[in-house]
Amino acid sequence: MARHVYGPVPSRRLGRSLGVDLVPLKTCSFNCVYCQLGATPRTTLKRAEYVPTDEVVEQVRARLAEGPPVDYITLAGSGEPTLNYSFGSVAERIREFAEAPIALLTNGSLFHLPEVRGACRAIDVVIPDLDAGDEQTFQLINRPHPDLTLEKLVGGLRALRDEFAGEIWLEVFLALGLNTADADVEKLQGQIERIRPDRVDLNTAVRPAAEQFVRPVPPERLEEIRRMLGPKAEVIADVEALEQTPQMEATGRDVLELLSRRPCTLQDIATGLSIHRNEAVKHIQQLLQEGEIAEAREGGRPFYRAR
Ligand code: SF4
Repeated sequence: MARHVYGPVPSRRLGRSLGVDLVPLKTCSFNCVYCQLGATPRTTLKRAEYVPTDEVVEQVRARLAEGPPVDYITLAGSGEPTLNYSFGSVAERIREFAEAPIALLTNGSLFHLPEVRGACRAIDVVIPDLDAGDEQTFQLINRPHPDLTLEKLVGGLRALRDEFAGEIWLEVFLALGLNTADADVEKLQGQIERIRPDRVDLNTAVRPAAEQFVRPVPPERLEEIRRMLGPKAEVIADVEALEQTPQMEATGRDVLELLSRRPCTLQDIATGLSIHRNEAVKHIQQLLQEGEIAEAREGGRPFYRAR
């Protein structure tokens, strides 16, 4: 019989968390650049009973009976747990015998469906992802199933907020240069205001990600972003581990990648990649010489854009 329950594992937010795996590796509607499970071979929106509900519930019951005690029971999976159409009844049945609160770790992509929001009745905390404030960044970071858009994701989370009695803790994954410029953070803030979560937890790459170009955000920039996002925001990344992770220097390719997504000022580039302005100048000059980027002026300020 497959094992569907793991832990309890220590979690900064959830204490001793007993994980419940509701989908096989790797069944997901996203293919995030930062996924620790590796690439999604094919994104899917197919909802099914991917693992037998009775088996899952009995394994949770047995694990709780044998101890040790847990602080949370966390529905998750080797992919997106709401793709399992029985996730709501799994939660309801666990609720009948478990005292610990139930959390749902999700990418949030299916909350536009009323039946997915309705299945959250027995859940105490929903922890969805939101990593982008605009469609282009959403496609770049989350690489979703073609039928998904940022507006669908945010609209679903707004509807969940209106209908769900429990707490919503939004998790934002920050990847240096992909969603960390001031303009990115402002757009994220706009979406967060629409969703009205109870908490906003900021994470970054402290462990190997699916793509090598995903780089951690230095603690100082994380702290700046936390301040920009207001009092509900908190850094949950393991900052100690981050301080031990050697920071790579930005390359010309990083600058070019940033500029191919949107035009930036010198300061945008320095902030977005957490590098000194002098280092940004060095890369800009090189890229201008190579003809990879062009300079334009708007309101008297120089902007750079990829050609
Ligand atoms: S949503 Fe989660 S499981 Fe799916 S690709 Fe992104 S990080 Fe991985």
